[in-house]
Amino acid sequence: MDMEQIKCMVCGMNINEKNFYINNSAFLEKNTGDKIIYCPFCGVSEIYLSNDGQTYTVDSSLLDENTLKIIDHAVKLEIFNGDFYKKASEMARSNEVKEIFSALSKIEMFHAKIHFRIGGFNNFPKLTEIDYDKYKYDTDKALLEAAEIREKHAVSYYDKYKHEVKDKTVVNIFNALSEVEKEHILLTSK
Ligand SMILES: [Zn+2]
Repeated sequence: MDMEQIKCMVCGMNINEKNFYINNSAFLEKNTGDKIIYCPFCGVSEIYLSNDGQTYTVDSSLLDENTLKIIDHAVKLEIFNGDFYKKASEMARSNEVKEIFSALSKIEMFHAKIHFRIGGFNNFPKLTEIDYDKYKYDTDKALLEAAEIREKHAVSYYDKYKHEVKDKTVVNIFNALSEVEKEHILLTSK
């Protein structure tokens, strides 16, 4: 695949020699200059990358009320996890774990933006500030365990609600992002 023409069908980003390594610490296998195996921005695998400029488009005006509610909740779930990872990257002791959390935070926020776009929503939600101190994450292990629980929750959310979604493209996107969260479970439990 000619790298100059790679586009992520899920998030719409162009992947090139300047950005292929972004968020590398959030992946078990790494992109290289010669081989792109996932989108560095939203994390989906290469089956969701196109070389003809094609992307997934969703007409939100055709989505039913229930689907919109499910997507709206997915926006919030991803922001909630993205925010947790941002704080976790500050709380973590080791630099390796800090980098993993920082990359995960950016990826989850990208997921929130994907849902926000396909749902055709108007105002990006602001979540209330969460005080993570009260959870007493004393070690990186405790943070990684909390991360794993969140990822499992995200996977079960996508896997449960995709059956209620009638729009095939939205189902494809849910499947793609669920796969990303499944890799995050492996990453945070290793
Ligand atoms: Zn992407």
